[in-house]
Amino acid sequence: MTEAEAIQLFETSHALVQNNHFVYTSGRHGSVYVNKDAVYLRPAVLSQLCLGMASFWKDRGIDAVVGPALGGIALSQWVSHHLQVLTGHEVLAIYAEKNPAGGFTLTRGYDEAVAEKKVLIVEDILTTGSSVQKLIQALNPFDCQIVGVAALWNRGGVSREMFTPSSDLHALIARNFESYEEALCPLCEKKVPFHPRLGKRK
Ligand SMILES: [Zn+2]
Repeated sequence: MTEAEAIQLFETSHALVQNNHFVYTSGRHGSVYVNKDAVYLRPAVLSQLCLGMASFWKDRGIDAVVGPALGGIALSQWVSHHLQVLTGHEVLAIYAEKNPAGGFTLTRGYDEAVAEKKVLIVEDILTTGSSVQKLIQALNPFDCQIVGVAALWNRGGVSREMFTPSSDLHALIARNFESYEEALCPLCEKKVPFHPRLGKRK
């Protein structure tokens, strides 16, 4: 799947909102927003994107796909399904849940399931990479081999060096958006109204 094809899928599912005014989680402002929830509303689109992800990793011997809840639940299911279809080998779908300490925990027997597996980590939008870092910490005790990190969209310029020395990183889309400090935001200066629903500002 090319980056243009992936962007097209985001556009057709109304998940890429442009020419507007948003406050990002970082507090900075910008004109573009990726609304991943609009993708999760449309499993047919999500399946196509996950096929794109699975195709990239199909020759790497992966036998478990692990994602961080909540988005990682659906992502791990679809990517593992397509990997299994493409390779003919069983590929498990596993998700990790947030714990009160701010990290991730594997429960439900998923800790045993992931042990000694060749793992692909899946994430929807990479902004800082911190969720994936925490997920890798959660996987550390289980002696699995983390082959790589697959993302739908790397919008933070996240590099593979953030994760483990031996794992690769691939995103269907690797594009950053221009963002501004509030005091320097040209959209604020033009008094462009904020998007009524998306972003941090209500
Ligand atoms: Zn602004």
